[in-house]
Amino acid sequence: MSKQEFSIPKLALELKSELDAYVLLEDLRWGTEGPEACPKCGAVGRQYFLNPANGASRKTRTGNASERRVWKCGHCRKQYSVLTDTIFHGTKISIRTWLLVIFEVCSSKNSVSAWEISRKYEITNESAWHMLHRIREAMKMEPLAGLLGGAVQVDETWIGGEPKNWHKSDPRQAGRKQGPTDKQPVVSLVHYETRAAHSRVVADVTAKTLMPAIEEVMDLKRTHLHTDGGAAYKTIAPHVAAHETVDHSVGQYTDGNVSTNLNEGYFSQLKRSLDGTHHHVSTEHLQRYLNQFDFMYTHCKATDSQRMRTLIGNVEGRRLQYKAPVAEVDF
Ligand SMILES: [Zn+2]
Repeated sequence: MSKQEFSIPKLALELKSELDAYVLLEDLRWGTEGPEACPKCGAVGRQYFLNPANGASRKTRTGNASERRVWKCGHCRKQYSVLTDTIFHGTKISIRTWLLVIFEVCSSKNSVSAWEISRKYEITNESAWHMLHRIREAMKMEPLAGLLGGAVQVDETWIGGEPKNWHKSDPRQAGRKQGPTDKQPVVSLVHYETRAAHSRVVADVTAKTLMPAIEEVMDLKRTHLHTDGGAAYKTIAPHVAAHETVDHSVGQYTDGNVSTNLNEGYFSQLKRSLDGTHHHVSTEHLQRYLNQFDFMYTHCKATDSQRMRTLIGNVEGRRLQYKAPVAEVDF
């Protein structure tokens, strides 16, 4: 199962029980050999599977039967499961549901909302919201600080509704900041060769803010920066190997291979999805949505199953606290 292409019917057929889901998740994370190292002490080798007395399930402290597969480390003697120290840690949702939802997210170009997950998988809205944020956490691609060289297209956009279009009685009017705009600026870098996307919520679009955002990903000395004619980029230009621009103000969008077309494509997909699926995203959570879009954009040539495998490979060490979601339409 783990080597083939997944689909919802295949997964649903394969994952008949919670035990099946544990076995598949173990296979996706560890392969058929089981865990190589202990998630508690890090020691390699001597990791033992604890066979349940009745062969299939064990009693939990509350007396219920659990199909959780438990392993034990021969070094620190501690027990753990495939969920320990991952985005699944402490979850009350079945692993079967988790795997189906992860596949759904990895195969949805326009993303999928917590409302949808809640209805389709018969879980509460709050649970769906928590799951999606944990999945986005695993989609986060840690920037290899200053490692990349080559051509990168950088552009910024503003995310958020048009306050002038809001009705006077719209509750959002109450907490709205004063000023010409309360849209949230976002900067996005797309590496020309690899098509890897790195997007950040930024406070503003000054050179002082944008330069560190670029440096998080790129080695400035080896960077060919492709941008529009924005003032900030002129300030950054002396710090990079080369800076080439297209002048949107005179209707120029490409000049040879210089453009910000990749960013334009990225932003339009992002906005379509935010408008169509999520409707409204608070500033606080926007970065997590950007992580998801960076992941989907970067792995757009991969199959749904390959994306799912990549994501499962990233679940370790990314625990999130189970905090209550903020009370707003943020699904
Ligand atoms: Zn150990």
